[in-house]
Amino acid sequence: AVRERIADINSAVENSIQGIREVKSFTNETYEMGKFHAVNSEFRSAKENMYQTMASFHAGMIFNIEVFSLVLIAAGAVMVNRGTVSFADIIGFQLFVKTMMNPVRRLTNFYEMYQQGVASFERFTEIMDIEPDINDSPNAIEPPALTGEIHLDALGFKYLSSPDWILKDIDIRIPAGATVALVGESGAGKSTLASLIPRFYDVTEGRILIDGYDIRTLKQRALRASVGIVHQNVFLFDTTIRDNILFGRPDAAEADVIEAARSANIYDFIQSLPDGLDTLVGERGVRLSGGQQQRVAIARVFLKNPPILIFDEATSSLDAESEALIQNAMERLCVNRTTIIIAHRLSTVKKADKTYVLRGGRLVEQGRHDDLIALGGYYNELYSRSAY
Ligand code: ADP
Repeated sequence: AVRERIADINSAVENSIQGIREVKSFTNETYEMGKFHAVNSEFRSAKENMYQTMASFHAGMIFNIEVFSLVLIAAGAVMVNRGTVSFADIIGFQLFVKTMMNPVRRLTNFYEMYQQGVASFERFTEIMDIEPDINDSPNAIEPPALTGEIHLDALGFKYLSSPDWILKDIDIRIPAGATVALVGESGAGKSTLASLIPRFYDVTEGRILIDGYDIRTLKQRALRASVGIVHQNVFLFDTTIRDNILFGRPDAAEADVIEAARSANIYDFIQSLPDGLDTLVGERGVRLSGGQQQRVAIARVFLKNPPILIFDEATSSLDAESEALIQNAMERLCVNRTTIIIAHRLSTVKKADKTYVLRGGRLVEQGRHDDLIALGGYYNELYSRSAY
């Protein structure tokens, strides 16, 4: 119980600290402290319980030993008085018992340590026994280089945490090298659909084929090596810009890193920094703007050079210059790759070979921008609401 409560404290503290900006901006420090006190007092009572048990155990043991000595002395005195036992025998016996008590004491101490060890080990095995949801099948194969032809075949998907279908009856064929846009209102299932391709989740029904291989038959490493992702909220590590770009392919040569940065339209900016590629980013270094972070993420993918690309466009509008630099880098990155863009901008939708319109997890329309407008349906409605 003590160890479980410690885990609760850790997760509560982690959560509060991660959300420190929210806590401060809503001036909810007292509320967060209250939450901490709650888990902490549970920890305290677990700990008190443990000390209580240990105290009665030790006190009981010492009481027994001492009572035993007293009885021995009293009984010995009576026996010596009656002349049944000699005084030397009693003293000898007493010393013998004392010597014997030491190993007993050591054994009980050992037992206590052993119990603590077993409890910790059980927690350890409990955690180690958790199986990841997604595993390589025993006969998973390493495919030859993929070209990136994608077929979503009668696909349906539910999250384990909820009974609702998030995606249903999705049929999409994307030829290798094509660029497609996914559009739809927030919550329509665009991000979910995109996260099924690198197999962050397994489909609930139907299948996803890449170059004709069901992705569940491929080694995850091979599959994910073939998919590059640029998220809306880019994550950069607290290290140098170089290391952040190298994350795409850690063994890449310096010239390739520079080439990737150049293709991602971020090289000039990097050069303007005093330490160039060695500039630290994040907590310990310079803070990059959203647009600059996205371009570093694009450079990463240039270095990785995968046949399939998933790009989640930033919803918040960037400044015009940043926007143009990203667009331009993206266009370069899309060349010869199958690209799926979760689109938030009309300019992207217009350039896509095909646009898929999702509504409530279903594919309701598909085609090029002009045709979809001419259709006068849901996309047209989204467009006239200037969602696109
Ligand atoms: P979009 O990208 O189009 O805004 P999402 O794919 O993020 O849509 O979400 C589709 C639906 O799936 C939403 O109703 C959302 O609440 C739900 N959803 C998203 N992620 C999870 C998750 N991890 N667990 C359960 N439901 C989720």
